[in-house]
This record gives sequence, structure tokens and C-alpha cells, in this order.
Amino acid sequence: MASTRTAIVTGANKGIGLAIVRQLALQWPTSPFAASGSSLEIYLTARNATRGAEALQTLQSDPQLLDAKTLRAQGGRSEIKYATLDISDDASIKSFVEDIKTKHPDGIDYVISNAGIALTGFDEKVVKETLGCNYFGYVHHSLTRTALQANTPTSTLQVMTSLLPLLRPHGRFVNVASMSGHLVSQPKYSSAIRSRFLSAKTPSDITSLMNDFTSAVSSGTHSSDWPSAAYAVSKCGLIGVTKVIAKQQQEREEGKDVLVNVCCPGYVKTDMTRGGGHKTPDEGAQTPVMLAIGDIGGRSGGFWQHEKEIEW
Ligand code: NAP
Repeated sequence: MASTRTAIVTGANKGIGLAIVRQLALQWPTSPFAASGSSLEIYLTARNATRGAEALQTLQSDPQLLDAKTLRAQGGRSEIKYATLDISDDASIKSFVEDIKTKHPDGIDYVISNAGIALTGFDEKVVKETLGCNYFGYVHHSLTRTALQANTPTSTLQVMTSLLPLLRPHGRFVNVASMSGHLVSQPKYSSAIRSRFLSAKTPSDITSLMNDFTSAVSSGTHSSDWPSAAYAVSKCGLIGVTKVIAKQQQEREEGKDVLVNVCCPGYVKTDMTRGGGHKTPDEGAQTPVMLAIGDIGGRSGGFWQHEKEIEW
């Protein structure tokens, strides 16, 4: 029976996020989920409404999308809508989630949590701001509060814990991390820290690691246990917490068949890489899109790169 499935992409006004929206629309007709004739509604979200509206306009006149006649306006089965979501703003996350609950009381199907930042430099402020977006948050960027003290930590983790329960059976949650968070290839973690990452059982175990890193940087003692790289540690935390939450999800709601995975998009030419990168944004979108709407053999809790699951 034909029905409508719903996807949400964060940080989708440019770069890999914008390409993910484009590729979701292009690849939907060949997705196993679309076999019954279902259509796909995609929320392109951004923290800035002007940039979001411009991105939506770009896609509505995208030659490849027009040629493929994938959008509803051309008689296709995908529809792209804009919604504001700033993952570093508690009020924005709450208002977005309430809006989604109202519009989709039966739930949503796919979330690709892609928004992220990579700042230059390395000091306490950079660490707090980077972890505050890519992992957990400091309400309204208040650098005086720790995430554990904050009642409502914002950011990628809050987006995950708020939207995961809204997934319908067979839903997918995809976090976009990075190979910089790959434990195996990062020699700067001490074996004690490495084994804490690998033996984590709850999100709090990973959050404690992120707090310990922040404290060690603040006190100038991090270098014996941690790399001097805020972005890498934030993405390592994101991979770790995704694995833990995926396991909890399977244990708590076994029959629901929700798959939770995390990936690296590859080294992609975007504003973040300042002109570096081997892949185009469309190529970078392939692994996240596959994890959302492709056949991944029922796997959950994996770290993926180049469309393959790899060891963390
Ligand atoms: P990008 O071009 O800088 O785009 C980042 C996107 O995230 C932008 O839309 C940005 O919005 C958004 N964003 C940042 N903070 C946000 C917030 N608080 N709330 C909502 N949106 C926010 O970077 P990209 O290369 O496409 O990166 C996308 C993801 O891939 C990131 O998670 C990144 O860490 C990951 N990644 C990228 C590479 C690479 O080679 N490019 C490699 C590994 C992983 P604004 O336009 O408003 O700033």
C-alpha cells in the first residue's frame, strides 16, 4: 500500500548535508522501502532560515532532480520541505521536535544527523565549542557551565535522544562522524582511555570521557591521554555514543527493527575542508544515504566508511 515516509537531514543548507537531501530524492525510487509505491518527504533543516530557503530553491531548480522527475512538482515521489533546526540551541531543538510530533503523530522514518563544525586552533574554548556542537552542548554556548551541570544539553546528542524515539518500525538513524574519530588509527589515546571508549555501556560512559577530555584540556594535562584535537575527540565520542545507543535500542525495542549507525563520508570538498577533499559532496553523501534508505543487511551499531562497515 502506498504511504509517505519522512526523512530529516540536519545541517542541510550546504556541503554534504545538502547533497544528502539531493541523493535521498534521487535514490528514493530504487530504495527497498519505496517498493510499495511509497513517497518520501524530506526535511532540509538549517540553523539559518535564509540559507535554508536558498538551499531549498537550489534543489527545486537542480537539473539532475528535474531530469529525473523525482520531485512531486514534476510528478515524482519526493518532496523537499524546509524547517529551522539549530542543534546548538535547546529552544530550537525543542520547537523542531514539537513541530515534527504535531505534523507526524505516527512518527518519522529516517534521520541523518549531519550538522557539525570544525574550528581551527586548540584551546579550552575550541574544545568546549566543538564538543558543544558535535557531541553534547553547553546551553546557548555558555562556556561557564559543564554539560553535566546543564539540565538540557543541546547538540548532536540531544538531536539523537529527541528524534530516535520518534522513529517508526524499520526506521533508521544515521550520525555523520569522521575517520578522525577512528580509535584504531589514532595513536594519541592512552590505553586506559581507549579501553574506556571500547567498554562503554551507556551514553553517560561516553559523556564522562568527553567531560574528562574537557577538564584535562582546561587543566593543561590532556597530552598524556588524549590527542590535541577537539574535532577528532568530538567525533570519537559521537561514534562511541552511537554504538552504545544502537545496542540499547536493540535491547529495549527488539521487534521494532530500528537500525542506528554512524559513518565517515570520506574526505569531501566542502567549506569545512576549505577546498581540500577527494570526493564531491554527492560522493560524500553515498554512505549516509545508503545507511538511511539502502539495503544494509539489518546491521546496527556499525561505523561505516566507503559504504562498508569497518572496525572502530
Ligand atoms: P560544511 O560544508 O561546513 O557544512 C556543515 C553544515 O552544518 C552547514 O550546513 C552548517 O550550517 C551546519 N551546522 C553547523 N553548526 C550547526 C548547528 N549548530 N545547527 C545546525 N546546523 C549547523 O561541512 P561538511 O563538510 O558538509 O560536513 C558535514 C558533516 O560531515 C559534518 O558533521 C562533518 O564533521 C562531517 N565530515 C566532513 C568531512 C569532509 O571531508 N568534508 C569529513 C568527515 C566528516 P551553516 O551554513 O549555518 O554554518
